[in-house]
Amino acid sequence: MPSMRDDLALFGGYHSPQVDVEVRLNTNESPLPPSPELISELQAAMGQLALNRYPDRTATRLRASLANLHQVDPEEIYIANGSNEVISTILLAYGGPGRKAMTFEPTYAMYAQVAKVTSTELVEMERDSDFGLEMGQVLKAYSRSRPDVIFFCSPNNPTGLDEDPEIISALAENPNPLIIIDEAYGQFASFSAVDLAAKYPNVVVSKTFSKVWSLAGLRLGYLIGPKEIIANLWATCLPYHIDSIKQAAGVLALSKLDAMQNTLDLILIGRQQIESGFDALEVTYWKSSSNFILFRAPKGKGDELWQALVDRSVLVRNCSGWPRLTDCLRVTVGTREENDRFLKALSQALAELRS
Ligand code: PMP
Repeated sequence: MPSMRDDLALFGGYHSPQVDVEVRLNTNESPLPPSPELISELQAAMGQLALNRYPDRTATRLRASLANLHQVDPEEIYIANGSNEVISTILLAYGGPGRKAMTFEPTYAMYAQVAKVTSTELVEMERDSDFGLEMGQVLKAYSRSRPDVIFFCSPNNPTGLDEDPEIISALAENPNPLIIIDEAYGQFASFSAVDLAAKYPNVVVSKTFSKVWSLAGLRLGYLIGPKEIIANLWATCLPYHIDSIKQAAGVLALSKLDAMQNTLDLILIGRQQIESGFDALEVTYWKSSSNFILFRAPKGKGDELWQALVDRSVLVRNCSGWPRLTDCLRVTVGTREENDRFLKALSQALAELRS
């Protein structure tokens, strides 16, 4: 057999178990499908596409629509196949051998994974026990390691907490590091760093169609940032990486802001529903700015609680074996019915475990 790169050989990759259940609340997608109007308009648009030709390489129309949405210049937008690919392109261009990326743990595992694959040295700073960050500690950690790339995630996955804009701004005063704020869940939060990307030449913000836009299956994400950085990413990525169907679908989705707003409203109500359910059941959780909530099982019972929920056909993310997240599970907000099913299963499972 051909041998893999030594530094990757023992590496398992990214895992999120896909179990066959009735209620899937484990991967933070939208609980609603895209609107029937979007689907029928996309079908019609596909008939007009010249699929024998390569797509528009820099997705001009889609970039213009995104620029309009965010009130930025089209040259300030890079597009990729999901924001995971945005992260990957960033580390291909700004990471790599001899360079360092900094993360604040616990956070989205993909930063560490892409750092590994691109041979970027990873510098992990620990959050405090409530998963917050303290300005002095962050600045100290930065001065100690001088990373080339810094990953913030706001709201942070898996904690659901916002990052502190003052800490991001303080770091951005250093001209060298490229600072990314991953806003995959930005619409659910009250703070957005898009204004910081306009203010600082080294700040970029990534976003996705996978959550509130109900299009995780489409694989579409993008980055907003200074033109020079965006141009470097377009130069780094493979040619024609955004296919014509995806470009058309993205433009159509952006023309349906009302549908997105309705989904957002439904999820915000559902988040309140689950948090109230947690209060009633006296479950410890972290108040979320996102479409998922991190909560804690009774001591030492994380795996058991996860299994007891699966036994009731409800799947949540089991984080209890992850570093720093002992006994923690993460639930994605679903439809009202799915949230009810989850809370009922949780109540039964806790009664069983506590008895
Ligand atoms: N960033 C964060 C913080 C996420 O949680 C996710 C999805 N799990 C992504 C990025 C990836 O999203 P996409 O589907 O756009 O690749």
